[in-house]
Amino acid sequence: MNRILFEPNEIDASGVARVRDARAAHIREVLHGTVGQPLKTGEVNGLLGTGEIVSIAADGAVAIQVRHTDAGLAPWVDLILAPPRPRVMKRLLPQLATLGVGRIVLVGAQKVEKDFWGATLLKEPIYRPLLIDGLMQGAVASRVPEILVRRGFKKFVREELDGLFGTAARRIVAHPYGEGDACAKTPSGRGAEGRLVVAVGPEGGWTDEEVALLEAKGFERQSLGPRILRTDTATVALLARLMPDR
Ligand code: SAH
Repeated sequence: MNRILFEPNEIDASGVARVRDARAAHIREVLHGTVGQPLKTGEVNGLLGTGEIVSIAADGAVAIQVRHTDAGLAPWVDLILAPPRPRVMKRLLPQLATLGVGRIVLVGAQKVEKDFWGATLLKEPIYRPLLIDGLMQGAVASRVPEILVRRGFKKFVREELDGLFGTAARRIVAHPYGEGDACAKTPSGRGAEGRLVVAVGPEGGWTDEEVALLEAKGFERQSLGPRILRTDTATVALLARLMPDR
């Protein structure tokens, strides 16, 4: 946790935030917090700033006086993801928040395992804390990525994609094969107008039809080289390659 984020309802009218969960334990045990100590803090989906510890109770609860004035960084990329197994997805979600993803559309590509859609991970009370953990790691943003579930891949791409992402942003589909390999050597999304949209396939890969459908919507194929990476590795590697320096 490089910045402690609070939900708006955890901050009272005088600007004091009170926590007693993992964040309190982190302040006490990792940061060795003492009264008067400054902390980097912020509000979930709100402003960032600084806090000062005002008390640490015997039961471990920590109170922090906060002052939040900075907007922080906005997301720079949206992700279309054919979800991997829940165990992998659980590892990936915080990293997506850390890396600055704005929207995550989970799509039902043909080779997505059918039982994924019943996973408890798809429930907001389960995934939201994972995303907030990722934001606290990254320390510069507070906007919780929005998760959309679209099981009908073709319908989503044909009917909804343009409306959701607009037409200005650069669109990239990660695929290990094909002529698009040259793309790997082009600079990156730096300077591109609008948010990028990146599509990453399922553990079984995109079908030819799915890649063709995305290409018809202006997605450039991008290969990360001949090594086949796992979905989570490919996603993080591609975002890291494209992400802006600041
Ligand atoms: N057996 C599958 C492998 C899929 S890997 C296949 O042959 O396609 C899961 C996803 O990660 C892929 O669909 C792609 O989006 C991404 N990925 C993995 N390795 C990649 C690479 N070297 N370059 C670009 N994308 C890659």
